[in-house]
Amino acid sequence: MSVVRTRFAPSPTGFLHLGGARTALFSWAYARRHGGTFVLRIEDTDVARSTPEAVRAILDAMAWLGLGYDEGPHYQMRRMDRYRAVIADMLARGLAYHCWMSTAELDELRSRQMAAGEKPRYDGRWRPENVAARGLVPPEGVAPVVRFRNPDGGVVAWDDRVKGPIEFANAELDDLVIARPDGTPTYNFCVVVDDLDMRITHVIRGDDHVNNTPRQINIFRALGHEPPVFAHVPTVLGEDGQKLSKRHGAVSVMEYEAAGYLPEAMVNFLARLGWAHGDDEVFGSREFAAWFDLDAISPSPSRFNTDKLHWVNQEHMKRMGASELGARLVPYLERAGLDPAAGPDPGEVALLLRDRVRTLVEMADAAHYFYTAPHPSRERIAEHLTEASRPAVKGIADAFADLPWTREAIGERLKSEAKKHGLKPPQLFMPLRVLVAGTPQTPSLDAVLVLIGRDAVRARIAAGLAN
Ligand code: GLU
Repeated sequence: MSVVRTRFAPSPTGFLHLGGARTALFSWAYARRHGGTFVLRIEDTDVARSTPEAVRAILDAMAWLGLGYDEGPHYQMRRMDRYRAVIADMLARGLAYHCWMSTAELDELRSRQMAAGEKPRYDGRWRPENVAARGLVPPEGVAPVVRFRNPDGGVVAWDDRVKGPIEFANAELDDLVIARPDGTPTYNFCVVVDDLDMRITHVIRGDDHVNNTPRQINIFRALGHEPPVFAHVPTVLGEDGQKLSKRHGAVSVMEYEAAGYLPEAMVNFLARLGWAHGDDEVFGSREFAAWFDLDAISPSPSRFNTDKLHWVNQEHMKRMGASELGARLVPYLERAGLDPAAGPDPGEVALLLRDRVRTLVEMADAAHYFYTAPHPSRERIAEHLTEASRPAVKGIADAFADLPWTREAIGERLKSEAKKHGLKPPQLFMPLRVLVAGTPQTPSLDAVLVLIGRDAVRARIAAGLAN
């Protein structure tokens, strides 16, 4: 029986950006790969910065990417009683102790240590044995913090599934504050209680948490448990190799939805940021989940690449069935102010346009003339509709009245009509494109005409000729 349990634990202080989405994707995929459970936990204890809008934004982005969770969302703010109970228990068992050191005293200690060239760290003065030895008396009217009693010697080590063996000397770690003077638990402590209670077996998270891990491991062990497996995923860098900035990918995943990327492409793109499966470049979520392994995550940072994202999006558009791609195009047509019911089947339109565009936004933009009559300017018409081509355009408009409305019949007739008037095909095709589509750049003219429909085509040519 599989016991893999992973979690994604975002802090709802903003939208879900690329790095966060990739962490979620990896945690999701690992659970799926092993038939395990994927838990969603909202780490909302930073009350000043957490918002319900951010929670919503994270849930929306996960839903868009198709990252379904099996348990949760658990909210840390709803688990306060549990954290308090664990703290009380740790105090009772001597695993934690009260510390009354004031900020002024801490500052004083810190400057002294720094002056002596030492790393500033709490000196354990309120550890029970020191209190007894020094006869310390808790000051009146001051609320203490609770500190975890960190092991004094030795090392804390783990075999990171991405970064390999990592080791910290306990001498580097001071006694962590696990509850503030008002009794609220602190971040590193809540994470451990949650990961224990939620029986998490694999912690997959950003490598900005590597420094928290030794402290968390010590708390796991103090509570009588072996820690889970850790896999710290390197950061995603911007196109320029610098930290992701607002201009390079540090935007909400949902902005990619707005920009017309398919969620399938986004998942594929995110999966390839720092992970590879042989030479496979284009794949779906299901394949990804079947292939995903922590050992194949690269220990060095990956780079965001817009060209790659465009390419992957195009590949997914090409692989998608017409009706599915058409259904995806519909909301973008609507956002572009078009009525999808006022023209041809969006699936057919998508098939015709997909090799020429990079995103669904570009596709909707290129699809205007299928859903609304163009109004080419007189100058534009005059550029293409010359004295030489005008009779041929008139002739084809007449022929269109009773021609079988198929690509083959239209294609044949276009060529013969051009020939009849002594024109090269483009000399007829260009003015027709401008009259019917408003632009000389369209996919294959016969296909475009078929989709626009006989009546609309004839009406547009007539309007143009009357100009
Ligand atoms: N809440 C943390 C964050 O958003 C993640 C904590 C964890 O994964 O352990 O960075």
